[in-house]
Amino acid sequence: MPYDLKRNRERMVREQLEKRHISDPKVLQAMRTVPRHKFVQDAMRLSAYEDNALPIGYGQTISQPYIVGRMSEALEAESQMSVLEIGTGSGYQAAVLEVMGLTVYSVERIPELHYAATRLFAELGYTSAQFKLDDGTLGWPEHAPFDRILVTAGGPEIPKPLVDQLADPGVLVLPVGRAKRTQQLVRIRKNNGDITLEKLGSVAFVDLVGAHGW
Ligand code: SAH
Repeated sequence: MPYDLKRNRERMVREQLEKRHISDPKVLQAMRTVPRHKFVQDAMRLSAYEDNALPIGYGQTISQPYIVGRMSEALEAESQMSVLEIGTGSGYQAAVLEVMGLTVYSVERIPELHYAATRLFAELGYTSAQFKLDDGTLGWPEHAPFDRILVTAGGPEIPKPLVDQLADPGVLVLPVGRAKRTQQLVRIRKNNGDITLEKLGSVAFVDLVGAHGW
């Protein structure tokens, strides 16, 4: 890999994650390892480590590194846990979760993105994640319950199938907002049958489109 890209990646972890108080060593190590530049379009490789989201086609985006770091940390995940991700997109978030040692299931509704991510994982030798082309607001019942669930697109409500498919104990992190492109990042915990909800701050995700989305 070109030296510049590796240096940019190290700088990304230092300036955008560590300086902004992301401290989970599994998250930092994964984001130091996953080649983010492979998850963006060729023409944008040199911008891959910048402090922002980037277009990946079909009106979708790869999330800003800081947001990936923050959401990955908010999951409070331990290795070996199962995690369901809704919104594969480029596959970058799924790759970070896989390198963190989680068993990843990721659902995407746009065929081109689903196939591109599946191909890229094979190319990079990431072999354990499983991908599905479907409406992720319905979850993935065959593999439920999931220790962790992460939604990387913003909808108007909390999809009930996802709460149902969350293990007990379990953590679900998702952006929720009544207006498009403006959401609260919410963490839901299931513990002894109780559901608690915590707001983690404002975010701006693309639309979650589906039966329990827009
Ligand atoms: N996690 C991605 C971010 C992708 S942007 C990454 O690391 O690149 C959000 C993605 O969610 C888009 O690709 C969009 O097509 C997808 N999406 C939106 N609604 C969805 C749904 N109901 N089920 C599955 N994917 C959905």
